[in-house]
Amino acid sequence: MTFDELNLAPAILKAVHETGYETPTPIQAQAIPAVLQGHDLLAGAQTGTGKTAAFTLPILHRLSLSTAPRNKFGGKGIRALVLTPTRELAAQVEESVREYGKYLDIDSTVVFGGVGMNPQIERMKRGVDILVATPGRLLDLQQQGFVDLSAVQVLVLDEADRMLDMGFIHDVKKLLALVPRQRQSLLFSATFSDEIRELASGLLKDPQSIQV
Ligand code: AMP
Repeated sequence: MTFDELNLAPAILKAVHETGYETPTPIQAQAIPAVLQGHDLLAGAQTGTGKTAAFTLPILHRLSLSTAPRNKFGGKGIRALVLTPTRELAAQVEESVREYGKYLDIDSTVVFGGVGMNPQIERMKRGVDILVATPGRLLDLQQQGFVDLSAVQVLVLDEADRMLDMGFIHDVKKLLALVPRQRQSLLFSATFSDEIRELASGLLKDPQSIQV
């Protein structure tokens, strides 16, 4: 299997080739076609398996095919939301989105706690296509009226097990109530406890399961 066989937009393939990746990793080979087809996904994958590109590449592809709605400030409305447990992971994921999306007209940003809110507020007003966030800060921004999640088409919970371990379940559930029910949802987790399975069953519709 090669990246060229995955039916990704040429602009995405160009960026992937420039990173030097030669072949898709097992999670990428399985997840990319499923996400391109619009399926929900329950993926068991550790860090280091290439899971970030597994969701980022098909999301970029899907968003590149349609136009962005507007937020109330006149900027682009958020179409994909990626939730992560830590700022470090959020920053890494957003960096990947930028890298793989550099030849597309897709904007992304990252918001997390522990830093000033004003630059994030200004960025949210300008609008983004893809937002990567930790749950607490995102909820804060939403409650203050700076984030509208009503146009989200794709939702990703990355490292869902760590998200629960870190006590973010309530924030995650509040955020889930703010995204449209009609959406594509992807859940990535290294481990599967009963709690994760319960979260997954509330979140995912008829998901494809992948374990690497
Ligand atoms: P992740 O599991 O998403 O944190 O990715 C782990 C590392 O693998 C990152 O440094 C990626 O840049 C790298 N990587 C992702 N996909 C591939 C691939 N298909 N071939 C080689 N390296 C990759």
